Amino acid sequence: MLIDKEAFNPLSEEMNHYFSRGINERFAHEIAHQYWGHVVKMPSYDEQWLTESVAECCAALFLRFVKGAPEYDLLVQRWRTKAEQATAASAIPIANELWNGSNNWERYRYRTGLIYDKGAYLLHCLNQEVGDKVFQTFLKSYQATFRWKFGTTEHLNGLLKHLTGTDHSAFFEHYYWGPELPPKPAPLPKAP
Ligand SMILES: [Zn+2]
Repeated sequence: MLIDKEAFNPLSEEMNHYFSRGINERFAHEIAHQYWGHVVKMPSYDEQWLTESVAECCAALFLRFVKGAPEYDLLVQRWRTKAEQATAASAIPIANELWNGSNNWERYRYRTGLIYDKGAYLLHCLNQEVGDKVFQTFLKSYQATFRWKFGTTEHLNGLLKHLTGTDHSAFFEHYYWGPELPPKPAPLPKAP
């Protein structure tokens, strides 16, 4: 894996944004692409979230494992904030079609907010719902089933149903195909 000096000292605003999650997360994200992108491939740019959001999700799970929950929680907060800023602009599958000829920065922000952040946030919500053990089995099964093949969101949904017994089609309909965001979780009660 090659990462040039721009990663350590971003010169442009766009690159600053790209690396804003920190160099550890960026390295973990790029390494995760060896699994999500190279081993399991995206069939088209309509499903780019299958590589970018899943790489984000796995990078965050890795950082939670080596650095602890606060690091992970911070990434989830960032995904949520950036997803909130982008969700009304489009839906994840058509985020690459976004066009604003007079404001490329805005286009970039919405596109990444959907394909990287909103998708990763949706995966976090699914992880919360099914629990770590099932979620990790889901990721491993997806790798095993689609090794050197093209994955699709439809297959991902089918595998989730197979493993959990629950049909998540409505979840994908609202939040992946549609411009909605899952409701914000209620804050945890303060310890006495
Ligand atoms: Zn990436």
